[in-house]
Amino acid sequence: MAECPYAERRGLAVFCKLANKKVSPLRYPCFSTHWDKCPIYREMAPKMQQKEEKEVEAKAERTRATTAKNEVPRSIGKGFKKPEEAKTCHECIFYSELTGMCLKLKIRVDDPNNPPCKRGST
Ligand code: SF4
Ligand code: SF4
Repeated sequence: MAECPYAERRGLAVFCKLANKKVSPLRYPCFSTHWDKCPIYREMAPKMQQKEEKEVEAKAERTRATTAKNEVPRSIGKGFKKPEEAKTCHECIFYSELTGMCLKLKIRVDDPNNPPCKRGST
């Protein structure tokens, strides 16, 4: 790419989306092939990427939570059991195989073979 993806032309100046201010293209390599050597880019881009990754993860978590909220428990008639009778989450009416969530406790189950609702009761 021959120009920095964070550069936005504004008349003779450039608006740097990373620094969130106007910068001079004479001082920074915004429209050259070595824009990735820019000190602002080097300093800010990793932080920006981390922030974006966190936002993506937070969005995925919200989607998982919403999906779990909208799911209804599986029916006992289909071979699934109440939590008291189920040995694992796989057998339980409240477990979602799709999201890996317990719909009763509203938490993510790390090990369905060791149900969180039964831990600490032995
Ligand atoms: S100042 Fe640096 S980071 Fe900002 S737009 Fe220009 S090259 Fe990109
Ligand atoms: S943790 Fe939730 S899904 Fe697993 S057995 Fe207990 S109630 Fe059922």
